[in-house]
Amino acid sequence: MKVLKFGGTSVGTAQRIQHVARLAVASGRNVVVLSAMAGTTNTLVEISAYLYKGNVPGAQETLNALRQKYAGVIAELYDNDASRERATAVTDRTFSLIAHFMEGEFTVAEEKEVLSCGELLSTALMHIYLEQIGVKVALLPALEYMRTAQGGEPDMKYISSRLRRLIDLEPDAQLWLTQGYICRNAYGEVDNLRRGGSDYSASIIGAALGVEEIQIWTDIDGMHNGDPRIVSNTRPVEHLHFEEAAELAYFGAKILHPTCVLPAKLSNIPVRLLNTMQPEARGTIIANFPPDGTIKAVAAKDNITAIKIKSGRMLLAYGFLHKVFEIFDKHHTAIDMMATSEVGVSLTIDDTDHLAAIVDELKGFGTVTVDSDLVIVCVVGDFSGEQGSTYGAHVVNALEDIPVRMISYGGSNYNISVAIRAVDKERALNSLNHNLFDL
Ligand code: ASP
Ligand code: MG
Repeated sequence: MKVLKFGGTSVGTAQRIQHVARLAVASGRNVVVLSAMAGTTNTLVEISAYLYKGNVPGAQETLNALRQKYAGVIAELYDNDASRERATAVTDRTFSLIAHFMEGEFTVAEEKEVLSCGELLSTALMHIYLEQIGVKVALLPALEYMRTAQGGEPDMKYISSRLRRLIDLEPDAQLWLTQGYICRNAYGEVDNLRRGGSDYSASIIGAALGVEEIQIWTDIDGMHNGDPRIVSNTRPVEHLHFEEAAELAYFGAKILHPTCVLPAKLSNIPVRLLNTMQPEARGTIIANFPPDGTIKAVAAKDNITAIKIKSGRMLLAYGFLHKVFEIFDKHHTAIDMMATSEVGVSLTIDDTDHLAAIVDELKGFGTVTVDSDLVIVCVVGDFSGEQGSTYGAHVVNALEDIPVRMISYGGSNYNISVAIRAVDKERALNSLNHNLFDL
């Protein structure tokens, strides 16, 4: 058994839903996880924002537009009135639920109910479509098995036993269909796994069932070895280690949600990234591969700020870094990259909400300088072994004309990061791509 997850654009129109249905059926007896149709969750967020502000007409207008959009999809998706009527009845029920929340005060719990509607709608439409084309499909309602524990992490034991039971109830199904993103929390309330959480759902379901593979279907052919918007001759990476995927996820390799990697990794289940529009392409496979000593990809993260603290007090002293970290902790600001010398330390952050307060407190420990408009460029690959250990030099050579603000090597076997000025980003990425992949 496999898990196949299709994202919002993959089910974004009536034709796309039909196309995904064919792909899903052709793949065999698997679990199919759907996101909301592209744009729907954003619209539901918008409706909630109006309701929080008490702007009921704003919410109503937005909901009406959404209703119309679904009416259009229903008209196009099905070839008979019976299916259209069924779909209209189900979607009407969902829309009246949202309308119901327009009365009285709008609460966080209600917002979560509203946000859950996107996945309920997409799976309902798909369910009816699959039945129309004669597929024996069983719906697995996510709200009946997907649950988080007190700390917010998935309750794997509960999920696994409920899911298995629901599947066993439908032994003749040709495929099982379920919602991504939505769940119940430890109190049994409707909740979600955060924006983009459908990938996470797929990974949790795959781990809970111990499937042979988790497939994440999007609209690009796997993870590329560079940013195609900046570098011209990028290509999909065929194999990635889970650790490499995790390093890249931070850099906004948008096709894979960072949290998605974890359950699959822990259960040692390969994750394959595939392209709905080009199903025959190989895509990228992420697994616990043995070390292979190759460079996989170069990625960049924008809007980085570097903070340097210099202090004579750091020399031969202990406890200095601890005090510095405490300040970032106190202001809930994550440090991404760091470099130290005997008398100073440079740190980077991407969340500058508390920058002024942090700098103010750091001044108690030393001389502080702040550089903004930086980017972190990160080279991801296997840097262990004889071949891997030579790549540091290649990276530095590729950047010979570029002023480097910070460099970090050795934090893991899979990452070399450099902080450079934003204005040099394009040049750096192209040079790295040229030097590292045309070796
Ligand atoms: N529909 C949700 C969102 O847009 C979850 C997902 O698509 O992964 O965030
Ligand atoms: Mg998504």
